[in-house]
Amino acid sequence: MAESRIVVCPHCHAPNRLPAERLGDGATCGKCKSPLFRGEPLALDGDSFDRHIARSDIPVLVDFWAPWCGPCRSMAPAFARAAKQLEPDFRLAKVNTEEEQALAARFGIRSIPTLALFRNGREVARQAGAMDQASLVRWVRRQG
Ligand SMILES: [Zn+2]
Repeated sequence: MAESRIVVCPHCHAPNRLPAERLGDGATCGKCKSPLFRGEPLALDGDSFDRHIARSDIPVLVDFWAPWCGPCRSMAPAFARAAKQLEPDFRLAKVNTEEEQALAARFGIRSIPTLALFRNGREVARQAGAMDQASLVRWVRRQG
């Protein structure tokens, strides 16, 4: 039997089961018909965060940031370009810690930007401080 993966839709947050080899094929969501990968990070809030982290078979890299943070804003374009490079092996997401203070508190985010990688609902790696695109992609790939 072909291997399958659950991909959570970045638009309506419905879980979609796909054959692993079809992930990069421009697949769309069975529920809302949006592309499952858009080549850009998605913004998560308290509800959508858990839907993605808990259900996704694709590791999710989360950028915890805030609008007032200069290094966060400087890293944003690199993070966006990294999404193009890392999808569909990884999903890239952003959490605005100013709006989502409960999430920031739950994960003990003390400095921003902080990047955290989640696999199967668990945090498996964390890196504080801004990174350029190449270092970011290297760091994420190194985590497997
Ligand atoms: Zn959808």
